[in-house]
Amino acid sequence: MTESHFEKTYQDMVRKGAMEKVRWLENLSKMILPSMRKRIQMNDKTVLQELVIPNWVKWELLHEWANEKATEGKGQLCVLCSGIKEAGIRYNNRFVCEPCFKSIKNL
Ligand SMILES: [Zn+2]
Repeated sequence: MTESHFEKTYQDMVRKGAMEKVRWLENLSKMILPSMRKRIQMNDKTVLQELVIPNWVKWELLHEWANEKATEGKGQLCVLCSGIKEAGIRYNNRFVCEPCFKSIKNL
């Protein structure tokens, strides 16, 4: 099993007892808006200008985090509402959640 850069960093911080950093990593999903997460996924580094990222956090870590969260099975990022949803369909290679899909169909 290969560990991700994110996991490695997280476990490093736990081992070092750097609780402030551990907490920062745990709260990532609360700090980063879904729309920003989407930009991170697309490797759009201009998002860094809108975020306050500590200097020990590397882009690689954010990028991995954004992609993992979107594919970890608990849901996918809907391209329309930017919500993480479980139910939905893939449409033109993009994920669209069920409520959004229904609203498109009704147009
Ligand atoms: Zn949606």
